[in-house]
Amino acid sequence: MLLAARGRLRVHLRATWLSGKTRPMEYRVAQLEALGRFLDEKKQDILEATASDMGKVRGIRGRIFGALSTHPSLGFRIMPSTAPCPQAGGARRAGGHHVTVLMACLPPAGNCVIVKPSETSKNTERVVAEMLSCYLDNDCFAVVTAGVQETTMLLENKFDYIFFTGSTSVGRIIMTAAAKHLTPVTLELGGKNPCYVSDTCDVQNVARRVAWGRFFNAGQTCIAPDYVLCSVEMQEKLMPALREAITEFFGSNPRESPDFGRIMGDKQFRRIRALLCSGRVAIGGQTDEKERYIAPTVLADVLPSDPAMQEEIFGPILPIVVVANMDEAIDFINARSQPLVIYAFSCDSKVVNQVLERTSSGGFCGNDTLMHVTLTSLPFGGIGNSGLGKYHGKFTFDTFTHHRGCLHRNMGLEALNALRYPPYSQQKLGLLTATFEIKRKGTCTLL
Ligand code: NAD
Repeated sequence: MLLAARGRLRVHLRATWLSGKTRPMEYRVAQLEALGRFLDEKKQDILEATASDMGKVRGIRGRIFGALSTHPSLGFRIMPSTAPCPQAGGARRAGGHHVTVLMACLPPAGNCVIVKPSETSKNTERVVAEMLSCYLDNDCFAVVTAGVQETTMLLENKFDYIFFTGSTSVGRIIMTAAAKHLTPVTLELGGKNPCYVSDTCDVQNVARRVAWGRFFNAGQTCIAPDYVLCSVEMQEKLMPALREAITEFFGSNPRESPDFGRIMGDKQFRRIRALLCSGRVAIGGQTDEKERYIAPTVLADVLPSDPAMQEEIFGPILPIVVVANMDEAIDFINARSQPLVIYAFSCDSKVVNQVLERTSSGGFCGNDTLMHVTLTSLPFGGIGNSGLGKYHGKFTFDTFTHHRGCLHRNMGLEALNALRYPPYSQQKLGLLTATFEIKRKGTCTLL
């Protein structure tokens, strides 16, 4: 029954797309304006929903509204975070953590889209499902709420494109389902992002930037530095600096801070808490299951075989793994899956460049954390286990646009075609060769 309804929805969206309704620029701009109104008029609902999903967090407002921007090369406003799917009836599936921002990108490329927000962020999912339809054209944009079982059924449909945000393991499931229909995919996945800290750096600044990146959203961002690699001497220096940064950001009791969030779900809370047995708890370590609170925590002397190093943490825990030097750090990184981002800190730019050049990852950021995603001129996406495809800014528009090669020729001037038609002769061959010569010199060809 449900499958049939989802199937009908896809057919309806496809029919809308085929009707050409979404093609005119004015239509797309109007939908973008409507989306802007949704974000504007429902900002309180969105903030409250996000706050109940994440615990009390300030400062998310700028993130949502910062998503509105102008893209000069396109001549109209698009949202830099992402956009819709090409042609008809694309499916877009987003993790809940930034779904509202992602939603903001539906209309620019003229696609019809089914959005499936994550069911783990229940309140955000509800706000999007209930309110967005009042603003956007329901013939083109649909929000579907579904758990794993229904999502599996949804994936049985043939879509033109699937954009997925979530974990690597679910990414594999999505790609397998897409392969059945040869549907192209963009997979925005996660993983363990290494952060190398060299012996030559401003320790206090490093600590502030790393702590901010790790504990932002209580560690639940795909680009958070997942673990630090540094020498034993640097670990000694970093520890008091990290403690100072954490206190500066969240006070002496982070539980009371309006700027420190909670873990999204009970299952995730228990998974993350179990990682605390890795190495030695040097900072934090307090937990409260009722509130799904885990204090900003730093683990020292963590071994590669410890639980915290076996999976993406996606929570407010920062393990430090001791390495002898930069070469060992690079070997450590290269021995593992390619991460979404690699961070490297050093006052010596040669060190930062070496880490960049001798490793592979979706993105890279030297001497800071998270900030690379704020540049919409940069592509954002993973490689290998951390994802497939890229978006942000114009890359988003291109991802959701089919670049169709087209030629429209004149019906006349048939004599020019005689060369390529049989019967062939030495003379024709000579002329053809000359034509290719001209092409190689960058002028034109008759073919
Ligand atoms: P998740 O993979 O558990 O869930 C993501 C989505 O997949 C949800 O909508 C869920 O309904 C769906 N899903 C789960 N199991 C499924 C199944 N068996 N079949 C079909 N669909 C299924 O991820 P999450 O907890 O929402 O988000 C955390 C992960 O997402 C982390 O790994 C994080 O790094 C990653 N992430 C990546 C980006 C990025 O842009 N690269 C952004 C945010 C989060």
